Amino acid sequence: MNKFVISVDIGGTNIRTGLVDIEGSGSNISSISTLPEKGIENAAERLSELIQETINNMIPKSEEITNYITGIGISSAGPINPLDGKYNFPPNLPTWHNKSLIPIIKKNFHPLPVMIGHDATLAALAETSLGENKNIKNLIYITISTGVGGGIIADGKMITGTTGQAGEMGHILVRSDGIKCNVGCKGCFEGNASGPAITKLAEKKYKNLSDKNSVGFSNFSPENIILNAKQGNAFAEEIVNDVIENISQGLSSILNIFEPEILVIGGSVAWGLEHRFNEIIKTVSHTALPRYRKNVPIKYTTLGEEVSILGAAQLIFKNTK
Ligand SMILES: [Zn+2]
Repeated sequence: MNKFVISVDIGGTNIRTGLVDIEGSGSNISSISTLPEKGIENAAERLSELIQETINNMIPKSEEITNYITGIGISSAGPINPLDGKYNFPPNLPTWHNKSLIPIIKKNFHPLPVMIGHDATLAALAETSLGENKNIKNLIYITISTGVGGGIIADGKMITGTTGQAGEMGHILVRSDGIKCNVGCKGCFEGNASGPAITKLAEKKYKNLSDKNSVGFSNFSPENIILNAKQGNAFAEEIVNDVIENISQGLSSILNIFEPEILVIGGSVAWGLEHRFNEIIKTVSHTALPRYRKNVPIKYTTLGEEVSILGAAQLIFKNTK
């Protein structure tokens, strides 16, 4: 019979699990709050309960779990070492530095194999394993969301770096006079184009305004700024124009460095700016190297919000018999 992977996606806000088959069909998606401040052991035990529920719903008690489940694949926000699952100062998972949840999950679900990877790297793996970009050998995945992260597939292989932390393309410089990200680098992609960055850019601009009444709204969430810009609010439009410029600059540099066959984008900010995608392409065609003047190989993911969950499943399918 068709076996499944129990796939997990760990973000700063939510942990989601699902059952995924080798074709990339997902089901039984459930979610709990990450609550990173309660510590990694707490999160690992609550995640174990969620996984156990999924197993109980699917497998009759008398049956062997390994007849149904190939393994547990975990996608996580990073930076993280995929070999031992240890985090390295993860900005959105405070208190998890130098700790791993793999030993707890392995112990609770012995003998299932458990593997972990960086969410954007696994998104890139999903892109080259499923859907319209299947079998592409050189592909970059960029998520523009709460953070900006990247995954690299070169010559058909995941590029993970010396300790698994390659692909942090959120921290390339896009604006020398830009603001700092949570890690502390000034003018980087993440610091000037992520969701929190949109709010910070608006707050900075607002602080320097002489006529604050002219702004016309006070909720500076990224969604609300993008919405107000859509409705023609001048203050919001200026912020969003800057963000479009910053995103274009970041994507141009990434294209120049990797020359991928395709660069796939996803994440809440990228989707929120889908109506301005043509402008991003146009700007990239002028800021990237001349070979990109006529053809900018950037597309939205077609694998949906679950792209990292699908990648976590592929990690297991590709690395087990
Ligand atoms: Zn940075």
